Amino acid sequence: TIGTEELKLLFVRLADAMAREKDRLCELDGVIGDADHGIAMELGFTAAAKAVSELDSSASDPTLVFNTAAKSFLNAVGASSGPLYATALMRAGAVAKGKSSLSDDDMVEVFSAFARGIQDRGKAEVGEKTMVDAWAPAAAACRAARDQGLSLADCLAAAFKAGEAGAEATKSMIAAKGRSSRLGDRALGHMDPGAASAVVVMACFRDHFL
Ligand code: ADP
Ligand code: MG
Ligand code: MG
Repeated sequence: TIGTEELKLLFVRLADAMAREKDRLCELDGVIGDADHGIAMELGFTAAAKAVSELDSSASDPTLVFNTAAKSFLNAVGASSGPLYATALMRAGAVAKGKSSLSDDDMVEVFSAFARGIQDRGKAEVGEKTMVDAWAPAAAACRAARDQGLSLADCLAAAFKAGEAGAEATKSMIAAKGRSSRLGDRALGHMDPGAASAVVVMACFRDHFL
């Protein structure tokens, strides 16, 4: 099973990954947005990693880890990605409610809860050139893989692949939500930065639960 210490380390992994990807994500956002997306994601996950690392290990459970991460992400990030990922993390906390550790099935639920949280908060549909274009197919692939009896590691690998394809597909979309929706067809040919960072998050999930 997956315990609180392993979850805390997931946030360290996310913070490190966003630090590495920050410039690339800012460049993508620079093309169709305001160039701050890498900064937002790094700030958010660094704040989350710090806050969860400071939790008393004897008193904390997976719900507290996710809820603490949510709150610190929201407080650290002024950009649109703040409330979107804060909601994702709160939903993950709700999945973990009452549990002292998480099973592989719970982790599949956590992954789906991320995707649903982002969709519920931002009200974007697939095809509107947002991070939902990565999260929705990734969550569906994760669920489908689990229904076929695959291991958590294989489910998260399948999710990553679907997310990556979803992010790639945003290049041929016109944005209907967020800042880049003002650009019309000038957004064509460019990957949505939020979809690109979603793939980074998914790679962290995949690599963390091998
Ligand atoms: P901001 O546009 O406020 O600077 P960020 O740069 O952090 O915010 O994030 C931009 C990303 O947020 C976009 O690339 C897109 O993926 C995502 N986004 C924006 N609005 C929505 C929405 N309503 N639903 C889902 N994702 C959205
Ligand atoms: Mg931005
Ligand atoms: Mg901004």
